Amino acid sequence: MKSLKAQGHLYADTAAQIEKLNEGSFTKFTRKLEESGLENMRPTGIDIMQINVGKMCNQTCKHCHVDAGPDREEIMTRKTMELCLDILKKYDIPTVDLTGGAPEMNPHFRWFVEEVSKLGKQVIDRCNLTIIRANPKYHDLPDFFAEHGVEVVSSLPHYTALRTDRQRGDGVFGRSIEALQMLNEKGYGMEGSGLTLNLVYNPTGAILPGPQETLENEFKKQLRRKFGLEFNNLFVITNLPISRFLDYLIVSGNYEDYMQKLVDAFNPAAARGVMCRNTISIGWDGYIYDCDFNQMLELKVRQGGRHLSEFDFEKMVNRPIAMDQHCYGCTAGAGSSCGGQTT
Ligand code: SF4
Ligand code: SF4
Repeated sequence: MKSLKAQGHLYADTAAQIEKLNEGSFTKFTRKLEESGLENMRPTGIDIMQINVGKMCNQTCKHCHVDAGPDREEIMTRKTMELCLDILKKYDIPTVDLTGGAPEMNPHFRWFVEEVSKLGKQVIDRCNLTIIRANPKYHDLPDFFAEHGVEVVSSLPHYTALRTDRQRGDGVFGRSIEALQMLNEKGYGMEGSGLTLNLVYNPTGAILPGPQETLENEFKKQLRRKFGLEFNNLFVITNLPISRFLDYLIVSGNYEDYMQKLVDAFNPAAARGVMCRNTISIGWDGYIYDCDFNQMLELKVRQGGRHLSEFDFEKMVNRPIAMDQHCYGCTAGAGSSCGGQTT
């Protein structure tokens, strides 16, 4: 499967996505916030710098909000990584969350992890698992992660091959299980090791996810029973109606129902806990966004410097967040963020 960009698809254009999301009679997200007295929501700080080091990926998952894949060539340069390091040296931002694409495919990935670790920051790697098995040059990633105390966060949409492969591609489940076994062998996910392995669940269809605790217990039981696997936490994430998931919703005739479900499930408590309140998101080219989703919709921050080279911490931490209809995905039900449910 090709990325939307390589297909020349209408929704490779972010303006077309935003236009679609604003069509129809769905209550405006900003109005929902006003009705809940949340219209002036600002960040609480900057605890996490999430960095997209490139859109290249060895997979082409159906629901990918990045529109990543082997045909994407956008990759963060070492110079841009150095700009990230300059900011991390100067300010107390304790966590660096690396994402992509497959972040490990960036040729400077290991160097960057080492430099960030030297600063005493916690590094998170959003690893798609199969990259560890994709090529012998990646087979030692579990050793590398363990050496630097990297927290590994990995998508596994389900504990059955059928449902995982349906979303992520043929054979992905089997290779993911092999990679999880390699991580467990290094101590990842094992009690007392100090090496954290978290999994990410997102629904395979046009539905909202169930309760995180229930799903975590079920995943732990099934993965232990079938494969002897261990992990720490399951992060439950709602699919946001953007990029390839937006296309899926429209093509499958589920768009209107799914949007209405999100709107009806708006939860003010979840809105207060959205991740853009303590995170900034950096694009492969050094531009700055409120979150990964705004990045994929090309909605840059409104103040604080649109690019790393113009970064102004005080302004950034007091910025108004750019919110629109896609934000319903973060505020439905128990809420959703890169760290799972928020309430
Ligand atoms: S592994 Fe992640 S980044 Fe790559 S295509 Fe799948 S969802 Fe997108
Ligand atoms: S999608 Fe909207 S609510 Fe969610 S993190 Fe981004 S800006 Fe915040």
